[in-house]
Amino acid sequence: MFVDTAKVKFRAGRGGDGAVTFHREKYVAAGGPDGGDGGRGGDIILVADDNMSTLMEFKYKRKFIAESGQNGGPNKCSGKDGKSLQIRVPRGTLVYDDDTGALIKDVSDDEPFVLCKGGRGGWGNQHFATPTRQAPRFAKPGLEGEEINARLELKLLADVGLAGFPNVGKSTLLSVVSSARPKIANYHFTTLVPNLGVVRVNEDFSYVMADIPGIIEGASEGAGLGHKFLRHIDRCRLIVHIVDASGSEGRDPIEDFETINAELNKYNATLAARPQIVAANKCDIITDGSILEKFKKYITEKGLLLFEISAATGQGVGALMNKVAEELSKLPPIKIFESEYVRVKPDVEYDYEVEITQVSPDTFTVEAEWIKRAMGSVNFSDVESRMYFERLLQKKGVFEKLEEFGAKEGDTIVIYDMEFDYVE
Ligand code: GDP
Ligand code: MG
Repeated sequence: MFVDTAKVKFRAGRGGDGAVTFHREKYVAAGGPDGGDGGRGGDIILVADDNMSTLMEFKYKRKFIAESGQNGGPNKCSGKDGKSLQIRVPRGTLVYDDDTGALIKDVSDDEPFVLCKGGRGGWGNQHFATPTRQAPRFAKPGLEGEEINARLELKLLADVGLAGFPNVGKSTLLSVVSSARPKIANYHFTTLVPNLGVVRVNEDFSYVMADIPGIIEGASEGAGLGHKFLRHIDRCRLIVHIVDASGSEGRDPIEDFETINAELNKYNATLAARPQIVAANKCDIITDGSILEKFKKYITEKGLLLFEISAATGQGVGALMNKVAEELSKLPPIKIFESEYVRVKPDVEYDYEVEITQVSPDTFTVEAEWIKRAMGSVNFSDVESRMYFERLLQKKGVFEKLEEFGAKEGDTIVIYDMEFDYVE
């Protein structure tokens, strides 16, 4: 079974929680806070693998979760980071965000790609001591890891696509010019998986050729088997269009040639417009030479190149492969799709309203969505970040409003999991 699409859920590891602990030592009555930070959650990382050619493994396992960070411990012990999870996919796998349809990544290069970032670990209570709050009884929880509902779609990376009716000799040609060993048989639709072969021209130059299952009439509308494989020649830079010139199956090469091109065109007009080289195969068993003569005339009038070959005997194959190499050297590189994905959700406009509640004579809570959001990105153990956060509250009138509510020096201000002593 050949699988070239899959839906998979990926989730990075959660960050570990910060710890709430206090230093303990013999003969020392009450030590300071020493809760360590939680570890970072592991990432989900995608890597292209040339030894894979299907998405089969994702049909059976559809959920991948990277390891969570460990919680912080006493003694300022940080929790261990979660291990990242490497996911190997065939080269040429397109990863879409299934919720929005946006393309996240075309896994075609050799760079490992971080698909989901692990959640940050929470800070332990060691960071939250202030001169007036020497025993903070809170720490920050770890953040959730990023999660993506992905749709994977394989579009093989091949320089050359072999197009043609079933049984014209596509698999045979691939097997004689490369070390690929596709199934060859004298019946239609033997090729149920696309096969890739590397054609080595010389030491410095080689190219990848793909043999895809036969494209038959109606394939672009979903009939038969052909349609689902057309995407694998989407990226091809050049098409070698093979016909059976021997008439051994009673077919007319001109008709076949036009049918295949019409199919390509229906599926994707840009694919049909790719440069084509025509190979008239099975020249070793021609009995009626007029079929080839007529076809040759037809192709030449179209301004296309035609090679007379026999994949079986090897006749003309070298010349064809050399011409393919020459044409490829003049063509632009294989298409790599650009990501359309915006990882950071667009900034929401806030009205900067806050909700203040006096929960006891000297304690006030402050709540607002924008503050919650800002807190997520502030490192409260870092003075500069803390000052930034304070300035933000100042600028948005939070302190003014607190005063309106009667907050005074020394009162406790609770903002979600943070507590501050109010200083006028
Ligand atoms: P595909 O369906 O296009 O991949 O065709 P195959 O490569 O499977 O070939 C179909 C049949 O044609 C097989 O029996 C091959 O042995 C035969 N064949 C392929 N190329 C040639 C050729 O050049 N000459 C002859 N006589 N037979 C060939
Ligand atoms: Mg075949």
